[in-house]
Amino acid sequence: MLRFLVPPSLLAACLVGQSMPPEPHRQLARDIYKELVESKSGYTTGATTPAAEAMAARLKAAGFPASDIFVGGAIPTKANLVVRYHGAGRRKPILLLAHTDVVEAKREDWSMDPFQFIEREGYFYGRGTGDDKAQAAVWIANLIRYKQEGFQPDRDLIVALTADEEGGGPYNGVEWLIKNKRGLIDAEFCLNEGGWGEISGGRKISNDIQVSEKYVINFRLEVRNKGGHSSLPVSDNAIYHQAAALDRLSKFGFPLKTNEVTRAYFQAMSKSETGRVKDDLAKVAEGARDAMERVALASPSWNATLRTTCVATQIEGGHARNALPQLAAANVNCRVLPEDSVEYVQGALQKVLADDQVSLTIAGEVSRGPASPIREDVLKAVGRLTDTMWPGVPAVPIMVMGATDGLYLRAVGIPTYGVQGFFMDRDDIRFHGRDERMGVTSFFEGQTFLYQLVKSLSKTD
Ligand SMILES: [Zn+2]
Repeated sequence: MLRFLVPPSLLAACLVGQSMPPEPHRQLARDIYKELVESKSGYTTGATTPAAEAMAARLKAAGFPASDIFVGGAIPTKANLVVRYHGAGRRKPILLLAHTDVVEAKREDWSMDPFQFIEREGYFYGRGTGDDKAQAAVWIANLIRYKQEGFQPDRDLIVALTADEEGGGPYNGVEWLIKNKRGLIDAEFCLNEGGWGEISGGRKISNDIQVSEKYVINFRLEVRNKGGHSSLPVSDNAIYHQAAALDRLSKFGFPLKTNEVTRAYFQAMSKSETGRVKDDLAKVAEGARDAMERVALASPSWNATLRTTCVATQIEGGHARNALPQLAAANVNCRVLPEDSVEYVQGALQKVLADDQVSLTIAGEVSRGPASPIREDVLKAVGRLTDTMWPGVPAVPIMVMGATDGLYLRAVGIPTYGVQGFFMDRDDIRFHGRDERMGVTSFFEGQTFLYQLVKSLSKTD
């Protein structure tokens, strides 16, 4: 049972019907959100420094001393922002994390300018509205609100807005902070992206808390031929080899299975569904294979929760219109269950591609992190607040499909929980895709949720 049936406290009871922040704080959060979304921080072509500096300026204007604000990073264009809100120091700080870089977005791929913040028909549109500038904006707006309200936490609150989360690699912001500025971000635990509220058929069904995540492996598939003139084709063609191998991959699925976190997830989800789906989710939690197959088919999210996935994401090849290709290459991006090894995935792919001419190598680094321990205080606070703001909606521990900065923090002993309280349609998640958006109400409710959650975790009752 993952539903926390804790009677709401008096304070919590007052919250019912007050899921919207007061108007001035709503306006502030919206202004910050707009400023962040319109700051072009695509991880290959953009920079995070302007966003970090803009937030530093806002914090200083709100009365935060310069000595509590740090702006810096691995290279001048990839600055992180770290700000400390001082508490009584009775417990170790809480780290509140979000990243300010975004996946690239091309104007021609979108039906609007991805770097213009647009409100339309109940949604905020723009690259980063979901991943991850909503949480970044809310952390800053809420910190300023605490300051204005004279809130005195029993521990320091640290907000870190990081660079290069989407890029990974040597310039990763949180990794750089861990190596170079550990003292600035050292904390008992961290709240981060990676868990959001799920909507299905217009109904809120769960508020997710991410406690573990899949890890990422990129494989480069290469076929090389000696080439020749296109007027004299031969059957041994690099593009055909590659295409056939990818076609076999497209028809392959890794075995369906569950682990501790996903079993708990499906069990909790079965309680908020009805009919056949309810039965199937309960059976999945017990390991029934036929139910797993139906559930995987029913939703891309459930499919990705039940298995390692590998998908072709990029192709390249050929050097002239009138020449036989000498190279056909592809990138295959795998999101791997924590319990599946790199060797297992590589071996399985080799079998599926079934062509000696297709070479398979790992591109870039592979990092795996441990799951965070299930902390009672965090899970209870999330459960209680969720039940108060959205009665009947369970708080559910999950494993996420993408990798986040939580990986690096967990690896150095800072347990990290992905929780946001932003509700989204689970079958229309547009992170990294076109016309990325966030519901207007979802954004402001998440603002209230995170405001209350951090407050409850930094007060001694
Ligand atoms: Zn993200």
